[in-house]
Amino acid sequence: MSANGFFDQGELVAVLTTQPLDRTLDYKAPEGGCFLGAFVEVPLGPRKVLGVVWGPGQGGFDLSKARSVIRVLEVAPMREEMRLFLGKVADYTLTPMSAMLRLATRAPGLSDPPSMRKIYRLGNGEPDRMTDARTRVLEVLRDYGGLAFTLKELAEQAGVTSSVVKGLVKQRAVREEDSPRDLPYPRLDPDLPGKDLTADQAAAVGRLQQGQQTGNYGTTLLKGVTGSGKTEVYLEAVAETLRQGRQALVLLPEIALTAEFLTRVEARFGARPAEWHSGATMTERRRVWRMVGQGDAQLVVGARSALFLPFRNLGLVVVDEEHDTSYKQEDGVHYSARDMAVLRSAICGARVILASATPSLESWANAEAGKYERLDLTSRFGVAVLPEMKPIDMRAEQMQPGTWISPSLRQAVRQRIERGEQSLLFINRRGYAPVTLCRACGEQIACDHCDARMVEHRFLKRLMCHQCGETKPMPEVCPSCQVEGKLAPVGPGIERLAEEAEATFPEAKIAMLSSDLFGSARALKAKIEEIAQGDADIIIGTQLVAKGHNFPKLTLVGVIDADLSLHGADLRAAERTFQLMRQVAGRAGRADMPGQALLQTFQPEHPVIRAILSGDEEGFWKTEAAGRLAAGVPPYGRMAGIVLSGPEVGPVFDVGNAMARNDAPLRQIGAQVFGPAPAPIARIRGRHRVRLLVKAPKGAPIQDAIARWIAPLRLKGDIRLTVDIDPQSFY
Ligand code: ADP
Ligand code: ZN
Repeated sequence: MSANGFFDQGELVAVLTTQPLDRTLDYKAPEGGCFLGAFVEVPLGPRKVLGVVWGPGQGGFDLSKARSVIRVLEVAPMREEMRLFLGKVADYTLTPMSAMLRLATRAPGLSDPPSMRKIYRLGNGEPDRMTDARTRVLEVLRDYGGLAFTLKELAEQAGVTSSVVKGLVKQRAVREEDSPRDLPYPRLDPDLPGKDLTADQAAAVGRLQQGQQTGNYGTTLLKGVTGSGKTEVYLEAVAETLRQGRQALVLLPEIALTAEFLTRVEARFGARPAEWHSGATMTERRRVWRMVGQGDAQLVVGARSALFLPFRNLGLVVVDEEHDTSYKQEDGVHYSARDMAVLRSAICGARVILASATPSLESWANAEAGKYERLDLTSRFGVAVLPEMKPIDMRAEQMQPGTWISPSLRQAVRQRIERGEQSLLFINRRGYAPVTLCRACGEQIACDHCDARMVEHRFLKRLMCHQCGETKPMPEVCPSCQVEGKLAPVGPGIERLAEEAEATFPEAKIAMLSSDLFGSARALKAKIEEIAQGDADIIIGTQLVAKGHNFPKLTLVGVIDADLSLHGADLRAAERTFQLMRQVAGRAGRADMPGQALLQTFQPEHPVIRAILSGDEEGFWKTEAAGRLAAGVPPYGRMAGIVLSGPEVGPVFDVGNAMARNDAPLRQIGAQVFGPAPAPIARIRGRHRVRLLVKAPKGAPIQDAIARWIAPLRLKGDIRLTVDIDPQSFY
């Protein structure tokens, strides 16, 4: 390899492929040579696979047997900082490099040459005769200063059929050209006027821009109640990044990626950013990937995996709603996009902004410890004020059996309907009823493959297992005692609550928002836009309404069961309840109408409920932090979850017991192992699940110890092991 990382033709190179091999393979550099980091296609057995030139070949075998790289792909080579980043994420999460490379190449058709399409622009020929339709086409082209259009765009703009355009092409009045499909994104202009900022917004912007100008890594926790202008503030940090000629990435929880947000970006910078999420088309994903790599996308707005795009000069990563649990990926590579954003930025000298109204305890503690800077926006923008929060003591309410909307809440909703305002009834449970009980024998209908009860979904007319997705029709007779007509729903889900709301408020227009009621992310987003326009009196929603949507007419939030998530086995149960309730409550009163949040609870004196109601956030965090510190759990200790699974419970436990006995590598770093124990959900898809939990002191090299601990394992048959570093959920 030469000093600038070039390999001459025939030189041996090590190639990392996306195949699960867990080592690099040696190939000869192709004709014309290749650079370190080049994306290449290599032969593997009878197949061609995607890979990256990772370094000089290892050699040590008969070189005449070495095969050649087939070709170098026409995309920007992987930069050193990206190779470093992937390696570090692999070490941190104990993931094989091949899986990391798959994560970093999630764009279809990377190995295809850039594809072409026909575009149309103004030509220099004269049409033989003019018609109204022809005139309109030429006017559109002139109006747009000779810009190119696709056939469809041009025909639509001019209001003509495509044959009119084709006719003009024949006359050379319109020119038809081939152009690469993956076009650069339009330039964003950071110097368009932003909004006039309030004093504390301007102060925060000043600090963030100063940080940006250092050109060094640094993380800032931007905390501010919903509606305080966090988005306005971080968009100014994005502007500064763009002025520096660097790229910015804004990460949002998948569902918060709305047209509303993109429109705001467009209003600020004059053009739309690149979008990266599961709803984007394949062509669009490929375009984003390529343009990011060649620096022709200045700003990407995306879901968590956007962090693995091949940025050329990344200067800023914003993680909005940084506490959101969807940033933790829990299948394949178990990574936290928030934590990895910090890692990536530290490697490439970028800034990080973690924005939230209710930060995670991890980020709060990092700010306390001085590792992150903290900026607070204390008031809502304009006349919007924080909602008034009140408990509804369910012990004192007169409830009819099988109903969940208390008389006090009912009255509050009625008031809103009369005033033409919106109410949100929040319940964090999908489906109709969480339990179907046989009133004859007491049987609760469970999934055949999982240790989970099946949830009735009336909308789908089926029972569904929320673990494995298995569905079955609602039986007529009890599967256990065969008695007919005794199966009854127990407890509410969103669908049942909607039914109650329809009966209680027959005059109201009711909209249900639950992730499973929509065929696609796009359909769901369209519905959200409609509701934001005011097209509903009552919104009935699950967790997904808590995330960053702006409903200007919403002035009442009723939380049906504030106690629901207080009692998880999860160490973060209190934190999650606190965040969720405050986020949901924050939906109310964003515009010029004051909001109110009513929490139905049987435990108004519970410390978490009291902290939510009093708004004493620092108090809540301090108490929660003290408890975690005393217990030595995150963020004051380290954890890793190990899940073993297999078709037979016995052998799975045998492996777990052997691991617990042979824990020397863990003891060496002062770590303890708990278990094996049946996982909270002991069976999923017919596989028995056993958990071990590793607890280590903060700062202990937990990954290294775990790697040494599991290395000698030889898993027999169909037993699988997954390691989750810093687990977020315990299931
Ligand atoms: P957050 O991200 O903290 O929830 P936003 O940035 O979305 O807050 O601001 C809430 C609303 O107030 C938005 O509609 C936003 O455009 C508006 N807003 C915030 N700050 C200003 C400002 N300085 N001038 C005008 N409008 C503002
Ligand atoms: Zn199941």
